[in-house]
Amino acid sequence: MLFGSPGSGKGTQAKLLMNCLRVPHVSTGDMLRERIRAGVAAGEVVATMHAGALVPDHVVNRLVEQRLAQPDSRQGFILDGYPRTRDQAEHLIGWMDGKGIREVVIHLVVDYNIIVARLTGRRQCPRCGTLYNIVSKPPRVAGVCDLDGAGLVIREDDQESVIRERLDAYERQTRPLLDFFRQRGRTLLEMDASHASPEDLAGCICRALDAPDGGGRAVEG
Ligand code: ADP
Repeated sequence: MLFGSPGSGKGTQAKLLMNCLRVPHVSTGDMLRERIRAGVAAGEVVATMHAGALVPDHVVNRLVEQRLAQPDSRQGFILDGYPRTRDQAEHLIGWMDGKGIREVVIHLVVDYNIIVARLTGRRQCPRCGTLYNIVSKPPRVAGVCDLDGAGLVIREDDQESVIRERLDAYERQTRPLLDFFRQRGRTLLEMDASHASPEDLAGCICRALDAPDGGGRAVEG
């Protein structure tokens, strides 16, 4: 379970971790955006996302449950962006405990100023989804995707006023889950994700997960 503020690198880590864990990447943000693209999301969901607020719990809980029931999730899965509220965490933990699934919460810890710089500089290819950053990971030609030449865009919810709203939602509704996980005795890895390269960080996470004690040595809290 990848946990952290918007811009902490959950999506990037999830893609890298898929290579070492060989399990699917389940991102509620991607699933919701996909539903909007396909024209099957309710108007309320579209408006909520564009405003940077959280989509109602029952909507995401159902989406995730349906996704985790797919056969490719039987050997495990990487959760990115879920759970984000107390209701979602209780729902997920109840579901996993019922199935005897053991999770590791990986908290990507990143300085606030770095988060803001990452989010405001983020650009995405609308065609293949590749992420760039105008400062830390610029495309070869400004504004153009290296892979397919499409013009890069700023995600609707990466506009500055919306970024503030997303960071507020994280502080109010999501960060408190760290205490919830600790109180419930769940395994929590705290990873310093401010400066390491994404590849080095993914390597650290894979090694921690491979540790004979299930990553227990790196547990803090
Ligand atoms: P980020 O982590 O950078 O905010 P995501 O792609 O994870 O980006 O999420 C984008 C938006 O999708 C959120 O601002 C929210 O509106 C919605 N969303 C994603 N996951 C959830 C969730 N678990 N619960 C409620 N809303 C969610």
